[in-house]
Amino acid sequence: LYKLDYHLHTDYSLDCYEPMVNIIKGAIAHDLDEIVITDHVDFTREMQPVRGSIDYDKYITQLFDFKNIYSNKIKIKFGIELGAEPLEHKKINEFLKKYKYDFIIMSSHTTAGYDLWARELFIGRSKKESYSMYFEEILQNIKLVEKFCVYGHLDFIPRYWRTGDNSLVYEDYKDIIDSILKALIEKGKGVEVNTSGIRYGLNTVHPQLSILKRYKELGGEILTLGSDAHKQKDVASDFDKGYEIIKAAGFKYLTRFDNLEPEFFEIKF
Ligand SMILES: [Zn+2]
Ligand SMILES: [Zn+2]
Repeated sequence: LYKLDYHLHTDYSLDCYEPMVNIIKGAIAHDLDEIVITDHVDFTREMQPVRGSIDYDKYITQLFDFKNIYSNKIKIKFGIELGAEPLEHKKINEFLKKYKYDFIIMSSHTTAGYDLWARELFIGRSKKESYSMYFEEILQNIKLVEKFCVYGHLDFIPRYWRTGDNSLVYEDYKDIIDSILKALIEKGKGVEVNTSGIRYGLNTVHPQLSILKRYKELGGEILTLGSDAHKQKDVASDFDKGYEIIKAAGFKYLTRFDNLEPEFFEIKF
């Protein structure tokens, strides 16, 4: 089995304190063949000034230094987790033109300008209303952003729902989720399987099995696997469960990327 982790953070992400070299060593310890470093750049009304303070050129220099140093042990690729918001799409499209990424994850970390982590979106809104707004923005991002490969942790909003039942039942959001999956397929983009949901106690990867099954049913093929590790110990975490769910959804191939171009390889379960 070709082993990879397509979603990894380092201390160039403001919510991560693990030096890049430790993440790389963690990946080598797991015997991975290939990784993509996907540090955050968030284009959102709330987070931009903070996240913007990272020295991005220094980051890229460091990443390519490590890519060379460790080239006989592991393949390291240049990626990004882009935090997107529909209103910022012009800035996003301009920014993405400047760099030669191998792989771009687009994610929604905000809805209506609110950082989901801070839970302000939920004040005065029902679960149905909040989750629906979150999915509507994902659909807009897919339509407005030109350059990306997969959508990250597509259904992670339950992680932040304030009290009681946070579950997300596919049937309750069928129309909007189907529109998202169809838009991704139409644009030749994919879905990320993100195992961090298990670490967050949600007992599932993102997106959950019902959504992955639906993606397959609609003709979806592009699928990547990532841990979303912010610590060395979380590199490639719960991949056994990830593969189990990928298999249950009916997928036989995973995708890796070079220069934003997808390449499929068979999963040997
Ligand atoms: Zn994320
Ligand atoms: Zn992430």
